[in-house]
Amino acid sequence: MQFKTIIEPFRIKTVERIRLTTPEERVKYLQNAHYNPFLLHSNEVIIDLLTDSGTSAMSSEQWAGIMRGDESYAGASSWLRMEKAVQDLTGCPYVLPTHQGRAAEHLLYTRIGGPGRVFISNTHFDTTRANIEFSGATAIDCPIPENADPSLEHPFKGNLDLQKLEEQIQHYGPEAIAAVILTVTNNSGGGQPVSMGNARAVSAICKKYGTRLILDACRVAENAWYIKHRESGFEDKTYRQIAQEMFALADGCIMSAKKDALVNMGGFLALRDLDLAVQCRTVLIVTEGFSTYGGLSGRDMEAIAIGLDEVFESDYLNYRIKSTAYLAYKLHALGIPIMRPAGGHAVYVDARAFSPEIPLDQYPGQVLACELYLIGGIRCCEIGSVMFGKYDEAGKLIPANMDLVRLAIPRRVYTQSHLDYVAEAFSELVKHRDKKTGYKIVYEPPFLRHFTARFGFFSV
Ligand SMILES: *Cc1c(COP(=O)(O)O)cnc(C)c1O
Repeated sequence: MQFKTIIEPFRIKTVERIRLTTPEERVKYLQNAHYNPFLLHSNEVIIDLLTDSGTSAMSSEQWAGIMRGDESYAGASSWLRMEKAVQDLTGCPYVLPTHQGRAAEHLLYTRIGGPGRVFISNTHFDTTRANIEFSGATAIDCPIPENADPSLEHPFKGNLDLQKLEEQIQHYGPEAIAAVILTVTNNSGGGQPVSMGNARAVSAICKKYGTRLILDACRVAENAWYIKHRESGFEDKTYRQIAQEMFALADGCIMSAKKDALVNMGGFLALRDLDLAVQCRTVLIVTEGFSTYGGLSGRDMEAIAIGLDEVFESDYLNYRIKSTAYLAYKLHALGIPIMRPAGGHAVYVDARAFSPEIPLDQYPGQVLACELYLIGGIRCCEIGSVMFGKYDEAGKLIPANMDLVRLAIPRRVYTQSHLDYVAEAFSELVKHRDKKTGYKIVYEPPFLRHFTARFGFFSV
């Protein structure tokens, strides 16, 4: 008999206290944080859905690995274990450990980037784009058109638009293309999966033009769940086999271990090309550390090796994807406009549709993020005009394409009752729809303003 109730497939051995704050306290905390949830202290937060990055709970096996960590400078056994785990999974012989994903991006994209060079992706994650543009190169996003419609159901909304890909390669000329980057799942595009069919077709186009294909594999295990359950021909394959098949299509990969390696810090670059690996390794030694630890302690590498194995356990992945979908389902049932279908690591709420009365230059996403905090102590992240908005010459806001609020779910951290609490907070928000006030930015740094911007009420 198959039970309908999907349980968290783990027992809790160590607990971390959540301090339950009162609404009055939260008014004060949010004021002190200048109405920017990024500036809240974590002990002022009840449920923290700011990010799924580096927030995973490690298993007892990983903690045991932490104790076994070999801290030798060169050739540590923990390194050999991590190197083998990455080689087995990716099929790439050359592995470069880094302190997190963006360091791996920096190594590779400054080597193959530079002025006049072009990168094409389903969607470049923000650190990916930043590293590419920092090198002087151009980053072009080509998601399928379905990706732009938040309410449209599509099984693989993270796919890369094949026709646009070929057009761009022909437009710039194959020799100008530094790499095609396939991001799985497509983080900035809503945590949406990429099908194997799409990955195969992208790989074939890259081969046709002699272009390098790099997999941004932060959530490759979550992506494999979707392929097994939504794409025909994969029913009998394991999640791990599916991921290995996808890696086999690429010339190399970058991974932030803070996502699907179930650790709090770490990353790597893995390549098939020895020449390129040697060039990147030279920079690794200058900026990160010796080639057998990069930016990592031995214990971190041990935990990554174990996490890369655990993340493909079918009970874990099933719980992971279904629990995110559970929150999406509950919000949808309440009539909350969410991006559909639910992504693997997060639920995205369409704040513009939730509060159509708030003008775009009063940041409806920021309003919703702050309201969620005030009502339930829930912290989430605005992905909209605060993060991506620009100004025209007259200083008027050019809004982002969408104003979303991302509820990112840390791995193995929260239980079903925590998610029920989040849904209840939304049901309360629906009742108090009239009370909202827009925000204006009263301070912003020149760069990446969403992290440190300060807000004031629009009416003040
Ligand atoms: C998180 C992430 C990165 C960058 O990794 P960090 O470990 O945060 O530096 C790159 N690409 C994607 C898709 C990510 O989600």
